[in-house]
Amino acid sequence: MRFNIAIDGPSAAGKSTIADLLAEKLGYNHLDTGAMYRAVAYKAIKQNIPFDEEDKIVEMIDNMDLEMMADGRVILDKEDISDSIRTDEISMGASNVSKLKGCRTALVAMQQRICKDGGYILDGRDIGTVVLKDAPVKIYMVASPEARAQRRMLQNQEKGLEADYETILEDIKKRDYQDMHREISPLTKAEDAVEIDTSDMTIDEVVERVLEIIAEKTGA
Ligand code: C5P
Repeated sequence: MRFNIAIDGPSAAGKSTIADLLAEKLGYNHLDTGAMYRAVAYKAIKQNIPFDEEDKIVEMIDNMDLEMMADGRVILDKEDISDSIRTDEISMGASNVSKLKGCRTALVAMQQRICKDGGYILDGRDIGTVVLKDAPVKIYMVASPEARAQRRMLQNQEKGLEADYETILEDIKKRDYQDMHREISPLTKAEDAVEIDTSDMTIDEVVERVLEIIAEKTGA
């Protein structure tokens, strides 16, 4: 039977990269839940809806056509927004809309529907604590803010995006604070999650470690 795997942790800890590689190795699907909060922020900005207007944001979500494709593309109202949602503005916007109870309720329901038959790796902030409380494998991935800022800077440089180390570091610390201190579903390690500090690990080492944990927990 195919089960689901939960990966949580702060921004830029390597969750998405690792989830992609694991999905490939295991023949699973990767659902990037952060991209869903980013899509909400993207549409709110487009429609000039302030991030704290909960009723309007929820109404907007109810009327939006969000497709999370198996290849990782994000399609909003038939538009491919995969690249447009990776800006710093949208990162902070996602962190802001993710504080809203109505927004979380709607997106959590969508996520649970998508992975109801198993075979999914979900990465986010509340996967092990809320979305997949019963997942047999829960990983909590952390890394120092400096290591994360360094990685994000290199990624941004590759993509030709803004890549000032200090700005990125500040943004990471601010988002960590917001995500860990919000009232609803703050970022926290599930009791039964296994923590991996990726600061001094290569991508391959992290993948190996997660595969070991999967084997320990499920015998797979
Ligand atoms: O993972 P990513 O950095 O793309 O997520 C963007 C923002 O969306 C996060 O900073 C967080 O505030 C929010 N988020 C969340 N719950 C999730 C995934 C993301 O609150 N499951």
